[in-house]
Amino acid sequence: EATAARRDTYYAASQQKFVPFKDPIVFKKGSMQYLWDAEGNKYTDLLGMNVCISVGHSHPRVVSAAMEQAQELTHCTTMFHHPVPAHFAEEFAATMPKGKDDNIEWVVHFTNSGSEAVDLAMAVARTFTGNLDLLALRSGYHGPTSGAQSITGIANFRHPGMSGNVAFVPEPNQYRGIFGKGADPYLDEIDQTIRAATTGRVAGIFVESVQGYGGIIEMPKGYMSGAAERVRAAGGLYIADEVQSGFGRTGDNMWGFEADGVIPDIVVMAKGIGNGFPLGAVVTQKHIAAPMAEKFMFHTYGANPTCCAAGRAVLAVIRDEKLQPNAKNVGNALLARLKDLQDKHKAIGDVRGRGLMLAIEMVKDRKTKEPDPETTAAVFENCRESGLILSKSGQYQSVLRMVPPLCLSMDDVDTVANGLDRAFSALR
Ligand code: PMP
Repeated sequence: EATAARRDTYYAASQQKFVPFKDPIVFKKGSMQYLWDAEGNKYTDLLGMNVCISVGHSHPRVVSAAMEQAQELTHCTTMFHHPVPAHFAEEFAATMPKGKDDNIEWVVHFTNSGSEAVDLAMAVARTFTGNLDLLALRSGYHGPTSGAQSITGIANFRHPGMSGNVAFVPEPNQYRGIFGKGADPYLDEIDQTIRAATTGRVAGIFVESVQGYGGIIEMPKGYMSGAAERVRAAGGLYIADEVQSGFGRTGDNMWGFEADGVIPDIVVMAKGIGNGFPLGAVVTQKHIAAPMAEKFMFHTYGANPTCCAAGRAVLAVIRDEKLQPNAKNVGNALLARLKDLQDKHKAIGDVRGRGLMLAIEMVKDRKTKEPDPETTAAVFENCRESGLILSKSGQYQSVLRMVPPLCLSMDDVDTVANGLDRAFSALR
C-alpha cells in the first residue's frame, strides 16, 4: 500500500497509466520463470516482465557476470576501449546469417534501449540511401522516442507532432487483416503505398518479424522476403525489429526473420538481449553503417560493460541451456492446450503464435470477429487469481499475449493451461 500511495503521489500521469491490475501487485522477488509478490504469493510470469526476461529472472550466470563487471569497472564510455563490449559485438555478429556467399560483414552499435536502436536504424537507413520516406506497418510498435513513435502504427502510442515522412501499410494479419489471408495482397499494397504516398524512393521498411504489442501477428510465409524485395526496388532497406521476436523466442531460429529466409539490411534489438539489464543494439552490414562515420551518434551508456557482461552471459545461457529448442517444444505444447481451450470457451476467437510468443484473441462473436476488450480485461484479472501474469495487447486490447522467459517448462504448461481454463470458466 505504501508503494501504491507513493507511486500515485510521485509518479507522473504518463507513467501511472500502465498499472494493469485493478488492485496493484507489488513484486519482491523473481527466479527463472516465477515471481513472488510482497505477500509471498507466487506467479508464473508469462509476460517475462515485458519480454525482457529471456533466460529467467535473476538468472545466476547473468547476475554474477554483471556483478563481477560492476565491481571491477561499472562504466566505460565508448570513447575508450574495453574488452567486454568488443567481445560481445563479435559474439553477436556470429549469431547473424552469413549469406549465400558467406561474406556478410555484420557490425554492431550498442544502445541503451530498443527505441534508441530504432532511431539509430532510421538515421542509418536515411543516411545510407539518401532517401527520406519510411514505411511501417499499421499495427506495429517501435518505441516511445520521437523517431520510434513516428513509425509506430498503433494510435494510442502516438503523440502529437511525432510523425513525418512515414507511410503506413496494412499488417498482414491472418485472422482479421483487411485483405484476408496470405502475403500477396499485402505485398501489392506496399507497391501501391510507395507509388501513392511517398516520393517513389524510400529509405526502408520496418517490420517486426512477429508483432508484439500489435497482438502476436506473425508475418505470413513470403511477406518478409517479399517486402524486402519491393522496398529494395524502391531504393530502400529492409529493417527487422527483433526487439520482441529475437533471441530464439520463436523456437525455430535465433531470429524471427530467418523463418522467411530474408537477410535484413539492419536488425534492431533490445529487451531479451540484457535479460533485464538496459541494453539495445543495431546490427547492420559494414558498408551500410559506413556513411554514419561522418555523423556522430553517441549514446553515453551505449556499450556499457556491466550491461554487455550481462548480455554475453545471456547469449551463453541461450546456447548452453538449449533455450531455443525449449521455446519450440514448450511453445508447441502450450499452443496445443490453448487450442483445447478455444474448443471449450466461445469467447476465444483465435489462438496463434510460434515458440514462446503466443496469444489468445477474444471476440464477442466468432462469425463477426467483433473484438472483446471487456472479456479480455476480465480474463486478465481472473488470471491473477490463478497466479498467471500476462498482458493485454492488440489494436483493440482484445488479445492476451504470452511471452514468458524461454525456460518455461512442460510442467508450467499444465499450470498455465489449467489456470487459463479457470479464468475463462469464472466469466459470467
Ligand atoms: N520495438 C518493439 C517491437 C518493442 O516491443 C519495443 C518495446 N516494447 C521497442 C521497439 C522499444 O524498446 P524500448 O522500450 O526498449 O525503447
